[in-house]
Amino acid sequence: MCGIVGYVGHRPASDLLLDGLSRLEYRGYDSAGIAVVEDREIAVRKRRGRVAGLIELIESHPVEGSIGIGHTRWATHGDPSDVNSHPHLDESGRVVLVHNGVIENHDRLKARLSETGCGFRSSTDTEVVAQLIGWHLEQFIESGHAADDPETCWSALRATLDELEGTYGLGVLFRDCPGHLWAARCGSPLVIGVGEQEYFLASDTSPLIGYTRDVVYLDDHDTARLGRDEIEVRHRDVGTRDVAVQTIQDEAVDVELGEFPHYMLKEIYEQPDSIRSAMRGRMDGDDATAVFGGLNADAGELRRIDRIVLTACGTSWHAGLVGEYLIEEFARIPTEVEYASELRYRNAPLTDTTMVFAITQSGETADTLAAVRECRRKGHKTLAICNTVGSTIAREADGGIYLHAGPEIGVASTKAFTSQVTVLALLALYLGRMRHMSFRAGEAFLESLEAMPELVARTLECHDAVREVARRFADCGNFLYLGRQYNFPVALEGALKLKEISYIHAEGYPAAEMKHGPIALVDERTPSVFVTPRGGVYEKVVSNLEEIKARGGPVIAIAGPDDERIAGLVDEVIPVPDVPEFLQPLVTSIPLQLLAYEVALLRGCDVDRPRNLAKSVTVE
Ligand code: GLU
Repeated sequence: MCGIVGYVGHRPASDLLLDGLSRLEYRGYDSAGIAVVEDREIAVRKRRGRVAGLIELIESHPVEGSIGIGHTRWATHGDPSDVNSHPHLDESGRVVLVHNGVIENHDRLKARLSETGCGFRSSTDTEVVAQLIGWHLEQFIESGHAADDPETCWSALRATLDELEGTYGLGVLFRDCPGHLWAARCGSPLVIGVGEQEYFLASDTSPLIGYTRDVVYLDDHDTARLGRDEIEVRHRDVGTRDVAVQTIQDEAVDVELGEFPHYMLKEIYEQPDSIRSAMRGRMDGDDATAVFGGLNADAGELRRIDRIVLTACGTSWHAGLVGEYLIEEFARIPTEVEYASELRYRNAPLTDTTMVFAITQSGETADTLAAVRECRRKGHKTLAICNTVGSTIAREADGGIYLHAGPEIGVASTKAFTSQVTVLALLALYLGRMRHMSFRAGEAFLESLEAMPELVARTLECHDAVREVARRFADCGNFLYLGRQYNFPVALEGALKLKEISYIHAEGYPAAEMKHGPIALVDERTPSVFVTPRGGVYEKVVSNLEEIKARGGPVIAIAGPDDERIAGLVDEVIPVPDVPEFLQPLVTSIPLQLLAYEVALLRGCDVDRPRNLAKSVTVE
């Protein structure tokens, strides 16, 4: 959460910073701000609200200079006010910084600094870091170090970082040491873009697109100093380290909205292509199995595993649940799906033959990263199913599978979910074919999968029907989402989408479970969305549906084509193509994404930037 940018070079910094912040705004949009240093003066412009507001402020109050930092905030400590916006200055005005993360010991540090007479302006945890650097800088200067010597700044920064508990990605400027931009990382992502006589700093690669493809990823406990012509990276334990410049791939480039009014809608409509990309090069017709380039696990090792843990948060956790059904059905390996935020502290007993997969769109989710680290610390091979190339989890995992879905900008995840399900299906096939699954069954599996992009494209034709349903029910205050087997995680995901972007309370349940409580919620103003395509549990779900109808609750059904029986029972039907049961989530999730989108539009909600949320949850 929160986006950081920085620039040092030969161009006007404010233009580049604002451009970068616009591209990072999906990470947080409580406030935005920049600081630029020129002639040993720090100019700060910041305000509550969107980057568009900051752009207006800078149009009326421009800042000059070719070195600066910027921030778009997702508040963790202190309300989203002007004064709590980043950048934050220290009391003396010598230090200014932006921060992503949480400083857990901020109260203690603040109390100590206050005793020395330090006056705080904001209620953020971040200001403590600025004040502490300022305090250490003062000590170094008083003991004879020069304020304009970069070594003095390194020392003040290092001394501060050694006192911090929690997570940070920092961009820091020192008024008296102009021409240098500092960065520091512990738990929050930072990447440096390498240009011609210029360097960029960013939370992810999106602000670098169009400027440079050459990047340096910072690791935890790295600090970096960037000058127009120089870069130096020091690690806390080993001192100055080699800087490895990597070139980022083409796929990080499409961040334009095109003809679509919102990223979410664009990404929903991209799903035939993103599912195709997830399968590309991974279908092995000759051996009727799947192939993965980056698993870094040999067949013998994979053959020995007898338990799988899938760990994730949010939508990725729902994809993990679909993965559990797939892997258990086709590979017969006992599989558990764990919330990463629980797994990281749970000390779960994992055996030597357990393999852990972390599922994450961004590759930066703080809890998932911590779960990966904990599992690796205990010696377990930990693989990632991840969308963002070069992200922290992708780099730290022992291997993994990329989704190749392209950047997902809409805060409510859509195409990443269906790509995750596609990859998990391929994984189930791969692990199954190593075990008891026959060649013929493998062929049939591949054939079904291959047809999915086309079937998903056909599913999108339900959009008009979804619009009608949205119009009828958009003013309801509660929704139930119900499905069984492969469509139970779809029900959870549908409810999550509605909550996220339309702020309507929604609950997802296994359809039969609703008798154990949620059915008490049913009344004529509480629609139930049943995910009930044809399949093994069809009759059972229809019975559950009748139970709701009998109690006067309106029912919306996601059903197979020409399902007259369902049509005769329910208030609204949204038809989806018939597909094999194990691939149904790829089609049944689409109308639920569209329903959330259309309801949110009718309620006047900001679809791509829902309140209180941010993409890429990089705080715990
Ligand atoms: N904890 C800081 C704040 O609340 C930074 C949050 C963020 O990462 O955006 O201002």
